[in-house]
Amino acid sequence: MRQSVIAYIGLGANLGDAQLAVLAAMDAIADLDGVALLRRSSLYGSAPVDAGGADYVNAVVEVQTRLKAQELLTGLQQLERQAGRERNYHNAPRTLDLDLLLFGKEHIAHPDLVVPHPRMWQRAFVLHPLAELAPKRVSEADWKAVRHQSVWRLEQDASKNA
Ligand code: AMP
Repeated sequence: MRQSVIAYIGLGANLGDAQLAVLAAMDAIADLDGVALLRRSSLYGSAPVDAGGADYVNAVVEVQTRLKAQELLTGLQQLERQAGRERNYHNAPRTLDLDLLLFGKEHIAHPDLVVPHPRMWQRAFVLHPLAELAPKRVSEADWKAVRHQSVWRLEQDASKNA
């Protein structure tokens, strides 16, 4: 049997009730075959980066899985579609955005899957919730790179709530 892997998934939404969309997505991730939800971060708010529209709600979940990274991504993309995401243009407002941030210690460079997620290190709205769950994965240099970005916590530490 395949070894299980600890992975981190970034969640974001900025349409409709974005908090509800992110919380529902956590439940949906927990229901994916071959995936166990271990912990979730608090919910955070952030202003859109390179895009207009409402503020985003962001969070990160820690999962344990026996799926391959590509299989996990396929499951996440199905959840995005079910959440009614329409991708009319680059950085369009979205009901739900799910990014595979880290997959164990694996480095993956396929045309449709790059892990660690290539843009996560430039995004405070990823690093803050990730650091709640896995502080060692965020370095001093990472924090420095995002120090001017505005991110605010929408609830108290939720890492034990999952
Ligand atoms: P986005 O607009 O950021 O949701 O990008 C979606 C596209 O990024 C899809 O075509 C994915 O195949 C691709 N992609 C590459 N690496 C990743 C990753 N680590 N997590 C999620 N999507 C990824």
